[in-house]
Amino acid sequence: MRNILAGTLALLMAGTAGAQTVDVHAGRLIDPQNAKVLTDQRIRIVDGKIAAVSVWRDADGPAAVDWSGETVLPGLIDLHTHLADGAIDVTESDPAAPLKHSEADTILKGAVAARMELRSGFTTVRDVGVYRGLTDIALRDAINAGEVEGPRMFVAGGYITVPGGGGEINALAADVLVPEAFRMGEVHNPAEARDRARFFLDRGADFIKLIATGAVLAIGGIPGALELSPEEMKAACDEAKEHGSYCIAHAHGAEGIKAAIRAGVRTIEHASYLDAEGIALAKANGVWLDMDIYNGDWINDVGVKQGWPAEYLRKNVETTDVQRRGFAAAVKAGARMTFGTDAGVYMYGLGGRQFAYMVRYGMTPMQAIQAATTEAARALRLEGKVGTIAPGAYGDLIAVKGDPLGDIRALEQVDGVVKEGRVIH
Ligand SMILES: [Zn+2]
Repeated sequence: MRNILAGTLALLMAGTAGAQTVDVHAGRLIDPQNAKVLTDQRIRIVDGKIAAVSVWRDADGPAAVDWSGETVLPGLIDLHTHLADGAIDVTESDPAAPLKHSEADTILKGAVAARMELRSGFTTVRDVGVYRGLTDIALRDAINAGEVEGPRMFVAGGYITVPGGGGEINALAADVLVPEAFRMGEVHNPAEARDRARFFLDRGADFIKLIATGAVLAIGGIPGALELSPEEMKAACDEAKEHGSYCIAHAHGAEGIKAAIRAGVRTIEHASYLDAEGIALAKANGVWLDMDIYNGDWINDVGVKQGWPAEYLRKNVETTDVQRRGFAAAVKAGARMTFGTDAGVYMYGLGGRQFAYMVRYGMTPMQAIQAATTEAARALRLEGKVGTIAPGAYGDLIAVKGDPLGDIRALEQVDGVVKEGRVIH
């Protein structure tokens, strides 16, 4: 049960005493850090951070949030979203759509996407690139300032991409020049890759996104083919490291996956044509595979109904099953796996649907939950801060009806969300 009024009252009352204390009563608590299930727990959040987790005793006071009839988990983490490109309506398949929205429009729509994402249970996201550069930084900062309701965001600032590559608006007439704001990450050589990485990091990006291979939802380009050169990727990764940051790579093709890992990226996105050598290389280098194995079905359903470009649909079909087979092989091989859905490609708020796919393709329900909590936190370098219900972590919690360990689809309908001790719903 959601108890918004009680939560608000507790906040108001605690507010007068200095520290704000919010107690959550969890009927069942899934602890992905220790792969355990606890029952009847009190989670005490003080000033937005978890202070204590203990067995519930009525004598310790009433709950601000009464989830005694529900299963409570850490707030979920999606490592592959596109909230800040919210101007691209997911029902709008026009490749030139980003050019039809002003910067203000893009950012305002991003705020709507952020709200939908948070309300569906994702309290932390890595937003992995925008066509119009730096809009994601504005959205992240507005959320952090409490001006916009949304998940804690980590952002790329834009895409490092070859001209006309998967990170650019394409399909325009040859004599139409894409505006500068959409080409901030365009590079022609390793020196430019280094320069553009520095550009995004200097302006507040948290990490760098490389477009290593062609993209599915793009006109032109082959998902399996390399776009950025190994030297360009290495230059960007070296620069990111010097800034205390890292690169991640969009990579569908088997060679692009390996080249990106050798260049030093932290996570591989999509990994559609992942082969045994790629899995071994990812394992050897401690690289996480972030495979969006749900959205292929969404695109195949909605995209066909809405008449998306034939090239999108063809490339989607070509990459969907092979990616799922690769996912199953990677799980079996014990590779590091995390949770990323490509939200924005499908309708925001449906990210929970991917859990069932991860279980269908080889994970236990606990492994799928860990991918979206503890493993995602490690990939973000936020171990112990997010994705766990333990002292010191942010007070980010969700509640679902039923038992996700018995039926993982329970995570598709999140009943309650608390972010940093604040009741969202
Ligand atoms: Zn993406």
